Amino acid sequence: MYHDLYLHSSSESGFQNDSAFQYKIQVNEFEKQVESVVEYCRKHPETEVEFTFDDGGVSFLTLAAPVLEEYGLKGTFFISTAYLNTPLFLTTEQVAELARRGHRIGSHSHTHPVLTELGEERIAEEWYKSVGILKDYVSGETIASIPNGNGDKTVMQKAAEAGIRKLYTSVPATRVTNLGGMQIWGRYVVYQGMTVGDVMAIVANRNRRRVMYSRWLCLQLIKSLLGKHYNSLKSLIFRVK
Ligand SMILES: [Zn+2]
Repeated sequence: MYHDLYLHSSSESGFQNDSAFQYKIQVNEFEKQVESVVEYCRKHPETEVEFTFDDGGVSFLTLAAPVLEEYGLKGTFFISTAYLNTPLFLTTEQVAELARRGHRIGSHSHTHPVLTELGEERIAEEWYKSVGILKDYVSGETIASIPNGNGDKTVMQKAAEAGIRKLYTSVPATRVTNLGGMQIWGRYVVYQGMTVGDVMAIVANRNRRRVMYSRWLCLQLIKSLLGKHYNSLKSLIFRVK
């Protein structure tokens, strides 16, 4: 799971805040990662890897799609539709271009809120609006990813009701679950500073994936214990992890 790529500066595409910058990957690093994953999958045909991208930054078209295409791959691009046609984000014409070139397009909510903090109606509106705006660019099933981490049962239920058939989370797990006719898929986040070895460990090393899942479970426990104090202590937790 990726967000924005960049050529010279991490402020070239997508959201411009501290939490967004930690996910922006230099395009040459990205290409090395893609090359290694493709090489691994060639030797291990039972392994399937999907490259997904969140938010809707302009680098989806300018940097990510060309690299993927060079390796014969298609990307899965999730877009927060309120940011379409705004600086550093895709235009609707660019979304159409990605779809025309065979890439998968999905919703990443409309305004990119923390969905679990919204009431049911607002959550439903976020999914319906975004899915509606993107429907002309979706050729297969309706897909979406959850903004800002993880959703609860209501967030997922409302996604299923909005016609989403495949929902991608940030839970580091390969097990696929079902809710109301919708598949729920986990994903592994690639951060700035991760090496090709780090990325390949996720792809090739089951024990590494187990450790990541255990760490995620611990983090959920800490979050539920700290409640609203979690965010103020987040930086400390990440520093000692
Ligand atoms: Zn996002």
